[in-house]
Amino acid sequence: MTKASPKVGIISLGCPKALVDSERILTRLRAEGYELTPSYEGADTVIVNTCGFLDSAKAESLEAIGEALAENGKVIVTGCMGTDEAAIRSAYPNVLNVSGPHQYEAVVNAVHEAAPPPSGAFTSLVPPEGIKLTPRHYAYLKISEGCNHRCSFCIIPQIRGDLQSRPAARVLAEAERLVKAGVKELLVISQDTSAYGLDLKYAESEFRGRPVAARMTDLARELGEMDVWVRLHYVYPYPSVDDVMPLMAAGKVLPYLDIPFQHASPSVLKAMRRPAHQEQVIERIKRWRAEVPDLTLRSTFIVGFPGETEDDFEYLLDWLEEAELDRVGCFKYEAVDGAPANALPGAVDEEVKEERWHRFMEAQRQISEVRMARKVGTLQDIIVDELGETEDGEPVIIGRSKGDAPEIDGTVYLAAEDYEHIQVGSIVTARITGADDYDLWGEVEEKV
Ligand code: SF4
Repeated sequence: MTKASPKVGIISLGCPKALVDSERILTRLRAEGYELTPSYEGADTVIVNTCGFLDSAKAESLEAIGEALAENGKVIVTGCMGTDEAAIRSAYPNVLNVSGPHQYEAVVNAVHEAAPPPSGAFTSLVPPEGIKLTPRHYAYLKISEGCNHRCSFCIIPQIRGDLQSRPAARVLAEAERLVKAGVKELLVISQDTSAYGLDLKYAESEFRGRPVAARMTDLARELGEMDVWVRLHYVYPYPSVDDVMPLMAAGKVLPYLDIPFQHASPSVLKAMRRPAHQEQVIERIKRWRAEVPDLTLRSTFIVGFPGETEDDFEYLLDWLEEAELDRVGCFKYEAVDGAPANALPGAVDEEVKEERWHRFMEAQRQISEVRMARKVGTLQDIIVDELGETEDGEPVIIGRSKGDAPEIDGTVYLAAEDYEHIQVGSIVTARITGADDYDLWGEVEEKV
């Protein structure tokens, strides 16, 4: 790197999809010879990739912009909150540029204006897999943008538009590059993974000399041949999900499904305008578990949605008990600017939302406690995220089981006499010796 290389800092807020946007921007800037810096100090400009999903996320985004302005002064704003330029400019008129999600060109142009690129191309500075903001052993693989649904609480279709799938060959080529670069776990993300390819009419594209349809099952099958962990996020329970079960049973795709159910009561789901009906979902969950006994189901829910009655909420609790989901996140409903749900009658008091949220989390804690306890005594494959030490200075391997996605699920702590032969990203087999409500403890049996 020459001394003349301008330095760019980035703050990436929001969901994994926004993280992928940040990675693309950084890959491009690095290719142009910019240097990336983790600190405000000395950065020629700072990019803030914002999240605009909930009011709390907007507040966090505004705070991050304010901090970057105070610390550095030359700030470029992009991401979901960038669609509300007026809100950003009224709080911070001095930001250099504001753009929405996926507007890579606008961000890169703004960086050029703030700090011109060094002359000459530096493409060799970019690793073939691009710049990753996640640790090197796992990576998010974005298969589509946008969404064809119109859930009443959500403004993502307004921000990101209708579904736009990437051709299968392009997704697979990116996956192959990541695997060659050392990635051991691919996290498939989108707004609706089960809808993948619908906009392309499931068109085939050529990968490794054979046609692959742009369809979730076909894509999962091909990813399953890459000999790494493949984890599916944001899957809706359409009938096509049944076709993925044999891939999970065969060990090609991780036995893990992240399905954002959001609620169970038919009237609340109707008001939410959710895709896929809840009826028979319990039956399907039972069938899936019969076919893939170690299947982990993760989901998110919203409590206190406008019009949610005590009966609706109890229906949800009963459903949860029966579904016995493994991992669950719960949000108290928050109005989002521009979302149709704001106009719905029957706003739920904040206190009631709070009380329901605690009851929901306690019900789930009890389910989770039982399900985690069942793992004690079993052998589990664990991917190593970190090599650390206990408070007493004993070595400990920190990782995740097949049922734990990074950042949102549980952690597995493994005692180790030493871990000289183990690296971050390697997969070990461990005997589970203990569990609490969400995490596991164990000992390494062998390195896979
Ligand atoms: S499925 Fe619904 S919640 Fe998810 S992105 Fe689409 S509109 Fe939003």
